[in-house]
Amino acid sequence: MATLAHTLARPLDVLADFPAIPEGWSYLDTAATAQKPRAVIEAIAEAYGKTYASVHRGVYQRSSDMTLAYEAARARVASFIRAPSPQEIVFVRGATEGINLVAQSWGGANLKAGDRIMLSRLEHHSNIVPWQMLAARTGAVIDVAPLTDEGLIDLDAVESMLTERHKLLAFAHVSNVLGSVLDARRAAWLAHGVGAQLLLDGCQAAGRMALDVASLDCDFYLLSGHKLYGPTGIGVLWARSEILDAMPPWQGGGAMIDRVSFEGTTYASPPGRFEAGTPHIVGALGLHAAIDYVEAIGPAAISDHESALVSLTRDRLASIDGVRLFGPYLASGIVSFAVAGVHPHDIATILDEGGVAIRAGHHCAQPLMAWLGVEATARASFGVYSGEADVEALVRGIERVKRIFG
Ligand code: PMP
Repeated sequence: MATLAHTLARPLDVLADFPAIPEGWSYLDTAATAQKPRAVIEAIAEAYGKTYASVHRGVYQRSSDMTLAYEAARARVASFIRAPSPQEIVFVRGATEGINLVAQSWGGANLKAGDRIMLSRLEHHSNIVPWQMLAARTGAVIDVAPLTDEGLIDLDAVESMLTERHKLLAFAHVSNVLGSVLDARRAAWLAHGVGAQLLLDGCQAAGRMALDVASLDCDFYLLSGHKLYGPTGIGVLWARSEILDAMPPWQGGGAMIDRVSFEGTTYASPPGRFEAGTPHIVGALGLHAAIDYVEAIGPAAISDHESALVSLTRDRLASIDGVRLFGPYLASGIVSFAVAGVHPHDIATILDEGGVAIRAGHHCAQPLMAWLGVEATARASFGVYSGEADVEALVRGIERVKRIFG
């Protein structure tokens, strides 16, 4: 199967679109943040350099044009994730802020003492800590779904753990450490079977696979623009309109109101209700350009490309003595590994000397590290610009690590 996957790997041949990746440098840290294609950089430069103005308030032409562009970005996100309406797209700073928004607004209004939230052992801290804060505030209880030996969220175990007290399941669509992909439809079916909602942290899925929130059948979906080849500081919360409509505001200020008086204030409808203050206007425009870029290549082609790179990497690393691979063979764009007797930071430092940038650390997933029995892992993660030459550079670097550490 591995060989088949390798032969199917078609280089996407887009490296030239990325001015910040010099020749001979292997950027293998896309799971932390993706490099930016020229189209995104130009969209940002044009927005600040030619068309800039505030949105939603100005009556002059420039401002109404910018408002149209900002709202067009919202509509573009909706079509990208197949959301039924742009009104279901809330712009946030990133997935972290989006999860905090759901926890504070939806969670605060819907959870009470004794209610249960289910997370999994592989979650990013962004999908753990906001729920712990909510649990401390409401008296709700957190359950932790175990993983299969391969490192997938164990949905058989989830099924046996679920009760009518569960109000929310919040799972990573793709693990940022293991690349394991959740069977989201089954998770949704299990959640809805006990009357709970399903939140998917789509940070690592967006840009790696085609997304369709309707067919995933989830209730909340989160993504960060910077992992999707867009700017930092912009992300998306999608939720079903009936859920958003019933959610109270979480931050107060300009733009989220209907009318303000000292006798009482009324709030705007979603998504404006959740976008207090001047938004990240140019971030939204950059995200629009990023989505256009990703869709022009095609999420299915990206997914095939990255899966082939993962299997190639795993096969090549598995043949090196002392390398331990984490996570499933069939993974999305991410490979975590260890080299016996060498700290991941040393691996990353030696690789960097050879022009290979990987991430070493706990990847904001300390409960997962504990489950793996390590303090940290080394992680290589791919993007549209990655290719077999990067995998070969990684392998050469690991061989050098082994020579240095004897
Ligand atoms: N969830 C996952 C799975 C992630 O990989 C990340 C980013 N590493 C986040 C949440 C948080 O995203 P951000 O820092 O962009 O808010």
